[in-house]
Amino acid sequence: MAVAFAEISGPWGSGGPLWVIAVASVLLLVVVLVAMVWITGRSRRQIRGMARIAERLAGGDLAHRFDPGLPHALGELSDSLNRVAEYQSDRIRELGRQQGELQGTLHAMSTGVIAMARDGRVLSMNPAALSMLAVSGLNVRGRRLQEIEAGPDLVQFATAAMDAGGHGFAELSLGEAGQRIVARSESIHDGLGEFVGIVLVLDDVTRLRQLEHMRVDFAANVSHELRTPITSIHGYAELMMDEKDETERTRYAEVILRNTASLSSIIDDLLSLARLEDPLQDQLSGREQVKIHELLDEVVRACSVEAEKGGSTLKIECHEHLECHGNRQLLEQAVTNLVVNAIRYGPQDSPVTLSAESIAGGQIQLSVADRGVGIEASHHGRIFERFYRVDKGRSREVGGTGLGLAIVKHIALAHGGRVELESAVGQGSVFRITLPMAAPTNP
Ligand code: ADP
Repeated sequence: MAVAFAEISGPWGSGGPLWVIAVASVLLLVVVLVAMVWITGRSRRQIRGMARIAERLAGGDLAHRFDPGLPHALGELSDSLNRVAEYQSDRIRELGRQQGELQGTLHAMSTGVIAMARDGRVLSMNPAALSMLAVSGLNVRGRRLQEIEAGPDLVQFATAAMDAGGHGFAELSLGEAGQRIVARSESIHDGLGEFVGIVLVLDDVTRLRQLEHMRVDFAANVSHELRTPITSIHGYAELMMDEKDETERTRYAEVILRNTASLSSIIDDLLSLARLEDPLQDQLSGREQVKIHELLDEVVRACSVEAEKGGSTLKIECHEHLECHGNRQLLEQAVTNLVVNAIRYGPQDSPVTLSAESIAGGQIQLSVADRGVGIEASHHGRIFERFYRVDKGRSREVGGTGLGLAIVKHIALAHGGRVELESAVGQGSVFRITLPMAAPTNP
């Protein structure tokens, strides 16, 4: 051993090799220690950086990504975490899109939708539901239906549906105006299939029910109106068969003729109304520039026989140049109906004035004024309804169908206008048709 040491130490002199080895070892140790400290520090910084990014991602800020250039295991971990972040941000974007779609649909719907938690508190309501319950502007989330005064019927329905596990169907009344609502209810379940609430779907069927009611009323009215002349025709035809006296037979034939004329008028008026109300018919296809003076002249000519019978004088007050855009035939029919009524329900020898003037807003007003019996204010709201009569006996006596004013109203509506009545008992009536003067511009 001593020989070997001597050989190694030989070239550097005595004591040299030991010192060199010791210094080299210390230097090596220092280098290793510095390198370790540096590597550990760098790894710690990288891990801290990753932790900060992970925290941001966990906080919902999905725009951040881990540094893909990290070495070794950290690099692989970064890649995996970046893929997870990418997947999550895709999922969240997709969920956001789906939620946006759902929100848009709920906002655009005319059907009311209310989501309720199991404890009976409202989670959300779409605008249609808010307007049905007249609670717009109120924050409804977290409130109970009773608190937002949703009405006893709906509260009861929601409670029953909740108790029954979600499913329900009923027609209810809402509010004091008697709004009719068809309500359906379905359960809401969470991701684990647990029952967590219900969704109420509300359809406003008020208008539908009104129309159904009107249809039933209308059918009953038509049957009644037709039955009266038919019964009369039937009775007088039977009498005629047994009657030998020629004068009597002629009288019966006259009654039959009068009743067939009345039937024919009812059917004509019903057809006019049906055409006016048919949404598939373009009422105004035959629109043209109509000179109002000419139109009123024509009405006076058409009503001259009736006016003579009723002893009425017809007077026109209208500027020569006044024009409107409309269906001449329909407008003539509307004014004629008003003039015939003015003659029929006015006293003998009283004047009837047909006038027209342009009024504010580019409109034209056609008026028919009489100095007849007048109409009590209580009838004004319903007088334009089909078969509504103020004086039933007088109407039948003068051959009225009860449809004349309904036709006037529909003609005005078809022209984008309206009809109004101003009348006082004993002083006469003024019926006014207001129409836009110019043709509507195409959108
Ligand atoms: P009718 O065919 O019975 O005249 P209308 O619809 O034309 O039907 O009129 C409805 C009711 O309004 C009439 O039955 C009549 O009682 C009343 N009426 C209409 N016009 C006048 C008027 N100018 N003066 C008084 N009453 C009128």
